[in-house]
Amino acid sequence: MPFSSVIKADLMVASRRSCCICHRFRGVNIEVHHIVEESKGGPNIADNGIPLCFDCHADVKHYNAQHPRGTKYSGSELRKHKVEWFKRVAVVAPTANLAEHRQIDVRIATEIHHYMTSGGGFYFLRDHDIWASYKSSVVEGIFSLLNVSDNPDMQFFDADLETARAEFVGDLAKGMSAVSFLTSLTGNGNYSLGSSIEIDLSPRIEEIRKEVAKANDLCSEAAVSYSELFHLMRSKLGIDLRF
Ligand SMILES: [Zn+2]
Repeated sequence: MPFSSVIKADLMVASRRSCCICHRFRGVNIEVHHIVEESKGGPNIADNGIPLCFDCHADVKHYNAQHPRGTKYSGSELRKHKVEWFKRVAVVAPTANLAEHRQIDVRIATEIHHYMTSGGGFYFLRDHDIWASYKSSVVEGIFSLLNVSDNPDMQFFDADLETARAEFVGDLAKGMSAVSFLTSLTGNGNYSLGSSIEIDLSPRIEEIRKEVAKANDLCSEAAVSYSELFHLMRSKLGIDLRF
């Protein structure tokens, strides 16, 4: 038996249709997962349900105990994700910790913006066509940001900021994995697709063209989601971030 529509609606409201694990807003692409599986006696009550996006739901479900790889999500861990996220989404009125939380969010916003602008990473995402080579220093900030993005101290307290951040980091990871797949470091500290003669002669030239176009698009999308996060960081926190 699935969860009742009333329980589902309650959980959708409590999570604001953002995923309890990755915090991205997912609109209709979100589902309620049983923390304890039905086949193992998990009841169809709100306490046993957790709203997850399709990606995280697949991660949670596809762990194969016969061929263990990675670390399985335990029931208690899922419950903790849910409780923590619901708590953050529920904060609409000022709380005792509000000033302290704001201070932490300002610190995170400033750090993220620094990573995005120090080496010109934002302009790389927005303007650079990876047919042309680029300096490794331009993407250093972006990779540093991706490296720290899983740290709990890089998550905003404010739920609006946190969903925007999660969306942006997801887009950034997609864009940079496409770019990393296509380009490699050459001797002079530049990244490029390879020597232009080799590319022109490659029998895969049409395929390469498509992959490059796709990578450029993904980077542009990441730039757009950063712009959205940037506006939100400025308006919600009232800080003067600049490019
Ligand atoms: Zn998710």
